[in-house]
Amino acid sequence: MKIFSRLIANLRKLPGVGPKQAERFSLYVLKASGSEVNELIESINEIRDNTVSCRKCFNYSLKELCHICSDSQRNGAVICVVENAQDLEAIEKTGFYKGLYHVLGGYISPVEGVERGHIRLKELVERVKDGSVEEVIIATNPSAEGETTAIYVHNGIKEFVPKISRIAFGIPLGGDINYMDELTITHSLEGRRKI
Ligand SMILES: [Zn+2]
Repeated sequence: MKIFSRLIANLRKLPGVGPKQAERFSLYVLKASGSEVNELIESINEIRDNTVSCRKCFNYSLKELCHICSDSQRNGAVICVVENAQDLEAIEKTGFYKGLYHVLGGYISPVEGVERGHIRLKELVERVKDGSVEEVIIATNPSAEGETTAIYVHNGIKEFVPKISRIAFGIPLGGDINYMDELTITHSLEGRRKI
């Protein structure tokens, strides 16, 4: 059935969705009531139409400032730098970290030698250059790219920030924060080292 294959093909574009899973989702859509399917479609449209980038940390947000940046209970003197919003979410889930974030929106590849402009380093410098930030925790992934990015970030901000730390991974290089369990992430943050 052509329309069924089309839905499967579209679902397979979602991250982590394989052919079996796409088929199961498609069967769900076939069997679901009209209101359930409409709710799904509306929620997809709603998030697409209403989500913007937080003007401060570049997390996904419904307003100009995301719920983290606009929370007065968070410690504005500490910024945790992450590669993407999924890593931010993974760290948030631990409930351990109470500072703010900065989403780089990418990483520097040691092989391709991407220009500095490809990560939001300039924007981070803007946030720290007045000297009000006491610590920046670099939480890029424990990969060659993550390490290269960490060095770039460190070099870009070191003259403005008294303490720059790198989260400590108890695992070999090659992991992804997004896939780590909450305890591992918490330990990585707790064991961060000044660089
Ligand atoms: Zn924000």
